[in-house]
Amino acid sequence: MKRKILLTAVLIIFGILVYLLLYGRLFPLSPFVTGFNKQEYQRVIIYYQSARISQFGSIDSLIQVVEKSHQLNFRHKVEIFICDSDRQYHRYTGATARFITTPVHGRIFVSARAKDDYENQRIHLETYLKHELSHSLLYQNMSLFLSLQYPGWFMEGLATYSAGQMGVDGYLTPRETAAKIREGYFVEPKDWGTIISPKGKTIKEITIENKFHFIYAEFALIISDLIQTQGENRFWEFLQKSMDEGDFYQLFFQTYGMDFESYIKYFRSQFN
Ligand SMILES: [Zn+2]
Repeated sequence: MKRKILLTAVLIIFGILVYLLLYGRLFPLSPFVTGFNKQEYQRVIIYYQSARISQFGSIDSLIQVVEKSHQLNFRHKVEIFICDSDRQYHRYTGATARFITTPVHGRIFVSARAKDDYENQRIHLETYLKHELSHSLLYQNMSLFLSLQYPGWFMEGLATYSAGQMGVDGYLTPRETAAKIREGYFVEPKDWGTIISPKGKTIKEITIENKFHFIYAEFALIISDLIQTQGENRFWEFLQKSMDEGDFYQLFFQTYGMDFESYIKYFRSQFN
């Protein structure tokens, strides 16, 4: 009897796991893809449902651009999933943002809202894709273990900066961002947390219109400052090492000769 109960429990858990992998939240990790059509390009695989994907075909040419702007190469083809419904998109990713890139395979998910916004010319698809490709590139170059603790502010800043997203689709320009910082608005980068940690105080409490547009722009401005004031080569070296070594802030100290808090103090002092 006991064995029967145990066996049933194991079967139920196995069933749930299979369901989550094929149709639910574990889909981004799943080696099996069902429910999508597949179009393979040289550097990209696009999974779509009924979407007209002609506009997504040009993603292939973005791959090289993104590799060049990060001095880093993709390790395998980028998989992009274009969802027909936002419910399904949410079921797979748990996300509410238009796009999300998940670790492990660096898979990029495109919501129905994003597709609709693009088709109605409300967003610049290429810019958003370059942003997500930046995440995908980093995820492809780090372990799952590291991706869980990698600083989110750095990923968002680098993606926003490298995609040339400042000043596009509501994101603040460098000048607008600087003006806001001068007015006293600032979030602590570390408060952005990681994939698994919650957001900190300054992120939760900042009261500014379209706060995520400001926050991403602030992080991008920090990346821009690091590159411009501390040296471009040093930055690429730092990026490379940060994906191999565990302690991001220890590496920051070794690379830049000051701890991150001191650097942020210096960064903010430029806006006094
Ligand atoms: Zn992002």
